[in-house]
Amino acid sequence: IVRYRGIRKSFSDFEVLKGLDLDIKQGEKITIIGPSGSGKTTIIRMLMTLEEPTSGTIIVDGEPLWHQEVKGELIIASEKHLRKVRGKIGMVFQQYNLFPHMTILKNVTEAPVHVLGMPKQEAKERALAMLEKVGLKDQVHKYPIQLSGGQQQRVAIARALVMEPKVMLFDEVTSALDPELVGEVLNVIKDIAHTTNMTMILVTHEMDFAREISDRVVFIDKGKVVEQGPPEQVLENPKTERLNTFLKRFR
Ligand code: ATP
Repeated sequence: IVRYRGIRKSFSDFEVLKGLDLDIKQGEKITIIGPSGSGKTTIIRMLMTLEEPTSGTIIVDGEPLWHQEVKGELIIASEKHLRKVRGKIGMVFQQYNLFPHMTILKNVTEAPVHVLGMPKQEAKERALAMLEKVGLKDQVHKYPIQLSGGQQQRVAIARALVMEPKVMLFDEVTSALDPELVGEVLNVIKDIAHTTNMTMILVTHEMDFAREISDRVVFIDKGKVVEQGPPEQVLENPKTERLNTFLKRFR
């Protein structure tokens, strides 16, 4: 459902990605691991159209991301085309950025009503179902500031899920949380992974979590995919010295 081909990305004269190829199948759960600064967040941000590759192509659900096909020819994508492709993708990141002046319920219904044009009642029902899924059904009338960081992050997950994206991106969603709150957020993500057929791409430094949740672990270093495969292979039997050195930090 997602295909990166020959992706290069530079920030001024620093090349972060140096010809990245990566394919993700419908329903697959993949975890991207790699040293700090290796470009993991950039890979994810490109799917949300928050960064544009310097060169290479990204295809999402059969459609090129930065270009669109018109009468067999590829042209620069219109804002409308970008919005359409972006609408297939949901993202949760480190900072949950809830709207502080809105209740939890309003935070989750806002996008379905204003972006999708969904009737308010339907949006409310769907939002409540999602908030129940993340274990917050009894908190829906509170404001973000009244919740813990872990609870706020679970609201952010519900807010992304309610849009029914085809692909969900999770970028180091627990790294801003106090250690005792990490487990509840990871458990919610595990539950989603095990009970839905949604495609999920995660960046994490939680190796046990990566092992439990992923169909495939992808190790990125120096701008390229260095190793990938099932978690037990990549995490237990690294083939390269680079991955072995990286994993030692977590043992
Ligand atoms: P971490 O694990 O620390 O989050 P990462 O693998 O996610 O790292 P990225 O956030 O993708 O790495 O960043 C890769 C490199 O690109 C870093 O050196 C970062 O400083 C640089 N970079 C990222 N975004 C920008 C930007 N908008 N402008 C300039 N440099 C950037």
